[in-house]
Amino acid sequence: MIIAIDGPAGSGKSSTARAVAARLGAVYLDTGAMYRAVTLKALRLGVAHTDDEALAAVMRGTEIVFEGAPPDTRIIMDGEDVSRPVRTDEVTKSVSDYCARDVVRRALVEQQRKIAAGHTVVCEGRDICTVVFPNAEVKIYMTASVEERANRRQKDFAATGINKSLEELISEIETRDRKDSTRANSPLTKAEGAIEMDTTGMTLDEQIEFIARLANKYMS
Ligand code: C5P
Repeated sequence: MIIAIDGPAGSGKSSTARAVAARLGAVYLDTGAMYRAVTLKALRLGVAHTDDEALAAVMRGTEIVFEGAPPDTRIIMDGEDVSRPVRTDEVTKSVSDYCARDVVRRALVEQQRKIAAGHTVVCEGRDICTVVFPNAEVKIYMTASVEERANRRQKDFAATGINKSLEELISEIETRDRKDSTRANSPLTKAEGAIEMDTTGMTLDEQIEFIARLANKYMS
């Protein structure tokens, strides 16, 4: 069974998906982390997002795997645990440019389907319900107001000792939303048959419960 979740930055996808996967004993597939890992590697190598040839070589020469059961799943790139480095500001600001490239998306979508084959999976991203798993048993489009999303990001940053203003975060989120929703290649959009879930004002527990109930319907 596949539980597929799409939605914009900060809508609650990752924390909810991670917890639902832990509760169901499922595989947790964080596709955003995969796009972030490729971006990290390209930035380290000085490969521009417009250089398709060099990006193709990066894709051929990079191994990305997940280790550990949710909620403690880690992303390992070429043997290095990059779970933290993929969350830096530098990567966050560049990832929407790298992930829009066909050469990157084709390779990662293929890998995502391989990871999921034969498993119960909770998978989240931007194109999961529309492109990667259009036949998923449970399809969700998760949203929240931009103010709420910026608030959540501010708390996440504060927990790591970084202070950012709400205005700055709103502007960053809006920029990323715009790039992700208007790109030609697999833009973020609500898939046909997806259930829209507005998490504004919902607690994490309520979000987990909402999805677990949908999943249980298919499992019983
Ligand atoms: O979910 P997260 O914020 O970590 O995703 C980082 C970026 O990766 C998104 O802003 C989006 O540009 C890209 N992404 C994507 N397709 C996915 C998952 C993430 O294009 N399935």
